[in-house]
Amino acid sequence: MTAVFCLIILLLFPRLSLPAEPLFVVTTTADLAAIAKSIGGERVKVESIAKGFQDPHYVEAKPSYMRLINQARLLLHAGLQLEVGWLPLLVQGARNPNLVSVNLSEGINVLEIPHGPITRAQGDIHPEGNPHYWLDPRNGPIMARRIGRQLAALSPADSAYFDKNLKSFEADLNRRRQRWEELMAPFRGAQVVAYHKQWEYLAQWSGLSILDYVEDKPGIPPSPKHLANLIRTMQQRKIKALLVANFTNPSLPQSAAERAGAKMVVLPASVGGEKGIETYTELFEWITGRLAEALK
Ligand SMILES: [Zn+2]
Repeated sequence: MTAVFCLIILLLFPRLSLPAEPLFVVTTTADLAAIAKSIGGERVKVESIAKGFQDPHYVEAKPSYMRLINQARLLLHAGLQLEVGWLPLLVQGARNPNLVSVNLSEGINVLEIPHGPITRAQGDIHPEGNPHYWLDPRNGPIMARRIGRQLAALSPADSAYFDKNLKSFEADLNRRRQRWEELMAPFRGAQVVAYHKQWEYLAQWSGLSILDYVEDKPGIPPSPKHLANLIRTMQQRKIKALLVANFTNPSLPQSAAERAGAKMVVLPASVGGEKGIETYTELFEWITGRLAEALK
């Protein structure tokens, strides 16, 4: 009798028995996934396509990623052509007419926007400006607010919950950011060299000055002439550190750093880039700690 009664209740009120399906969010990068998880909590399921230890410019367009996008309600991407080599193929292959796609670069103060017509001449992979903007923690809240608004639009019943998570994400990030700024304060104006143009937002925020790059142009291996000039400049200016992402092949920057008498500083460029970096704030804990150690 009880079983029959339960069945009737279930049939009459299916939503009482089954919690609402979490909103399925696919992101191109692990940083966007981490922020989406912080805001969406248990009301979202989040998958990132690029892992934090991969170069997000170069990801293989696998059919399994098309299936993810096919099942997603929301796609978050960094934009500024960061994913141009692989995301359009995946979205096309996913054939998901219900997909809402959000470019998180809107609202960001983009650095290094080229003057004149946009071109990928000579393979420059930053034709719309520098796409590595998540590496300034002041951009975290801008991305988080947009993600929050989008989640609320797709799941209005959860908007108060998303809003609460957003507020605590921002409060925690701002509190920690002050501590990171104190940690980096002694190194304001310190000159460093970098492999790829991906630390400009980090440098602008932390006060580091990036003098030059190993890559002639973003994504282009250096000519021997450029490398020789760079090493000479590093020696003359007594540059202490050469910043390299941990997915970059270290052999070239390592030998350049050695010849210049500098230290190669290997940094994670995304959440998941090292074991133990699972949140957006943990990424900056790691990066600022590593930089302060290398520059002291
Ligand atoms: Zn880049």
